[in-house]
Amino acid sequence: MQQHIFITRRIPEPGIRALEGKGYNVTVSGKDGVLTKEELIVALKGKSYDAVLCLLTDKIDDAVFEAAGAQCKIFANYAVGFDNINLDAAKQRGMTVTNTPGVLTNTVAEHTFALILAAAHRIAEADAYTRAGNYKGWAPMLLLGSDVSGKTLGVVGLGRIGSRVAHHAAKGFGMKVLYYDPKPNAEFEKEYGARYVDLPTLLKESDFISIHVPLLPATKYLIGTNEFAMMKKTAYLVNTSRGPIVDEQALVRALKEGMIKGAALDVYENEPSLAPGLADLPNAVLTPHIASATEETRGKMAELAALNIIEALEGRVPPNKL
Ligand code: NAD
Repeated sequence: MQQHIFITRRIPEPGIRALEGKGYNVTVSGKDGVLTKEELIVALKGKSYDAVLCLLTDKIDDAVFEAAGAQCKIFANYAVGFDNINLDAAKQRGMTVTNTPGVLTNTVAEHTFALILAAAHRIAEADAYTRAGNYKGWAPMLLLGSDVSGKTLGVVGLGRIGSRVAHHAAKGFGMKVLYYDPKPNAEFEKEYGARYVDLPTLLKESDFISIHVPLLPATKYLIGTNEFAMMKKTAYLVNTSRGPIVDEQALVRALKEGMIKGAALDVYENEPSLAPGLADLPNAVLTPHIASATEETRGKMAELAALNIIEALEGRVPPNKL
């Protein structure tokens, strides 16, 4: 019997080709945008899909699983983060949930480094200044930034992405690396000369603080007013993990009041909205949740999400079962 797959929004072709190559009937949501939860429920209810390929912008809870029905075996998330899915509800219903770890690690680490360099060298500000016709000639004090080489990077969350960022920092820029994670990693410390510290020490001693933890109840607002108060006035905060890990209004205040020197963000507390005042700050570099968005990586994420579906529908344990 032919199996039916629902994809909540168009994804790169390699994923769709892999599913169609298996003879599955693939339906992609016709809406050019994020489906609301109500629209998702309507799209799934009574349709007897065998699998759903969903995105980090889809809020997947028990009502969505119920709408998908008992014949649906898997929700394959097209992201490594899975804070958009209620895993307890999935477990109770025996629903398999998967993510796409690993294939995006290098790309997100590159984007993180692009943000570190952009903030320190004031790239976005300088670009806007130049395009606006303000450049009237070389000047000794024009748009002075901060060096990155030799400074201290504090990595919060030393998982796949955090350790790759630390690699670039230590090997490429001769940076000292501090890290905080519930799990210390002695091998990593040896290879990179890194030091395991608690979060307050990391905040006090780092010149660049880069966040790489998953969004969990324990990591929501991990960085807020108290934490900004501990940072150096010359520090930069970089967040490419999930927006609610940083109290964004507190960040705006910290940037305005000079508690820290700058910030670079790819993710926001209430995406796609920005906290009032954030977009007006010249010392914030902002990208629209694109840290994994290269042609290569988005294609690999689509293939991996499809592979998870294929494995589940063929009766095997998918490689990225959560
Ligand atoms: P990972 O699971 O390999 O690493 C997460 C690390 O955080 C782990 O080492 C874990 O022990 C640590 N951690 C958990 N709770 C912590 C806490 N309270 N304090 C300090 N460390 C803690 O995940 P990954 O593949 O490195 O991805 C990290 C996150 O990056 C994802 O969860 C996702 O939300 C985000 N992400 C964002 C983008 C983007 O487009 N901006 C792309 C990919 C991933």
